[in-house]
Amino acid sequence: MLFANINLLDDNLDFRENQWVGVADGRITYLGDTPPESAAAQAFGEVYDGREKLLLPALYNAHAHAPMTLLRGYAENLPLQAWLNDAVFPFEAKITPQDCYWGTLLACAEMVRYGVVSFSDMYYHMQEGARAAIDAGIKMNLSDSLIAFGDVGLDDLPLQSQLIDLIANFQGAADGRIVVDCNIHAEYTSNPRAVSDMAEFARERGLRLQVHVSETQLEHEECKQRHGGLTPVRYFESLGVLDGPVTAAHCVWVDDGDIDVLAAKGVHVAVNPASNMKLGSGFAPVPKMLERGVSVCLGTDGMASNNNHDMFQDLYLLALLYKGSTQDPAAVSPKQALAAATRAGALSQGREDCGLVAEGARADLCVLDASGPSWAPMTDPLSNAVYAGHGADVCLTMCDGRVVYRDGAWPTIDVERAKAEVSARTKRIIGEL
Ligand SMILES: [Zn+2]
Repeated sequence: MLFANINLLDDNLDFRENQWVGVADGRITYLGDTPPESAAAQAFGEVYDGREKLLLPALYNAHAHAPMTLLRGYAENLPLQAWLNDAVFPFEAKITPQDCYWGTLLACAEMVRYGVVSFSDMYYHMQEGARAAIDAGIKMNLSDSLIAFGDVGLDDLPLQSQLIDLIANFQGAADGRIVVDCNIHAEYTSNPRAVSDMAEFARERGLRLQVHVSETQLEHEECKQRHGGLTPVRYFESLGVLDGPVTAAHCVWVDDGDIDVLAAKGVHVAVNPASNMKLGSGFAPVPKMLERGVSVCLGTDGMASNNNHDMFQDLYLLALLYKGSTQDPAAVSPKQALAAATRAGALSQGREDCGLVAEGARADLCVLDASGPSWAPMTDPLSNAVYAGHGADVCLTMCDGRVVYRDGAWPTIDVERAKAEVSARTKRIIGEL
C-alpha cells in the first residue's frame, strides 16, 4: 500500500503534512514529502487517499487478559479483593480452552477496531489465545499465569511443562508476531520459592516476564507485613525477578524508593488508568515515574474492569487525569501519553522495530478519519488525536503491512461468529454458577 498525501505523526510524534508512505513486505520502506518514483510507486500496490486522514503508529496494549471479554459486564461495582475472590475466580474456574479462544478472538476484533495491533496477555489456556491472535493477524506476548500457594516450586507445578510446550509451539510463531513471556501473577498469589524459580527460568532462557505489582493498597501493605517490610517491588527485586526484561502492571501504590528501583532496573510499567479507577484502586504516580525515567506504557487490563479495548479512552485518561490529581496542567503531556500507547508499549514487548512511523520500521499503523467536527481546526493535531478524537475515528489498522481492520470490516475475523460464541459461552458459564 502507498499512503498518498497523508498527514502523520512521525517517529518523534511530530506532525508532518502531506507525506507519502510506502509499505512493502511488512515494513515501511518509503517515507517522504514527494511521491516515490513511478516504478517504485507501482510496486507498493494500492494507493490510499490520505486526504482528511491522520496516520499514526498503531497502539500496543501492554497489559490485558483477553479472554476476560467473557466477563464483560459481570460482577460490577465491587472492590478488587471481593471482585476477584467472590466473582471472578468462580467464573474463571468454569472457562474452557475453547472459551478462551473465542474470548481472545473477540478481544482481537475489538482491539483492531481501535487501532491496536499487539497485546501483552496473562491468562490460562494460552495456546488458545495464541491461536486466536494468529488467526486475527495481530501480535501477542502471551504469558501463562503462575499461581503457587503453599511451599511449592516451579517444577512441582503443571505450569512448567505447559510453558515448555508453549515455547516449543509458539515462540516466534507467525513471523515473530507471537512471543512467549514468563509470568508471575502477583506476590499475593505465589510464594518466594516459585517466584525465584520463575525468575531463574526466564533468565536462563532469555524470556521476558509479566507481573502484577502494587495494584491495590491492600496488596501493597499486606506484602510488607508478610515479607519484613518489603514492598512488592523490593520483594520481586530481592528474588531476582527484576534482573531481566519485565513488564510490571499497575504499580499504583509504589513509593519513591520503588520508583528508583523500577528506573534503575529498566522495568516497563504498564499503567491501566481505566481499570484502576473502575475498581477504585487509585492512580499510579505516572508523573513521578516519567520524571525519573521509568518507561511507562499503557494497558486496558481485562474487560471485567474497564470494560472495553478502546485504548483511545485509556490514552485520554492518561493524558488528562494527572493534570487534575496533581493540579499541574503540564503533568503527562499528550505526546508522553501517546508515546506510552505506541513506542513504549512496543519496547515493553521486546519489539524494537515497532511502534513508530519511520522508514525501516514494521508497518504497524492506524489511520484516523480526521474529517469529523472534532478535528477542526488542526491547530495542534497531536492534541486533537488525544483529547478530541475517538477510537471510533480509526478507519484502518495495519499489522506488519496487512490490513486487519478497514471501514467497518474485519478481513481476518468473523466478528458476528465471535460475538455469538462469546455471548453463548458466557450464558453457559453464568448458568453453571
Ligand atoms: Zn491485570
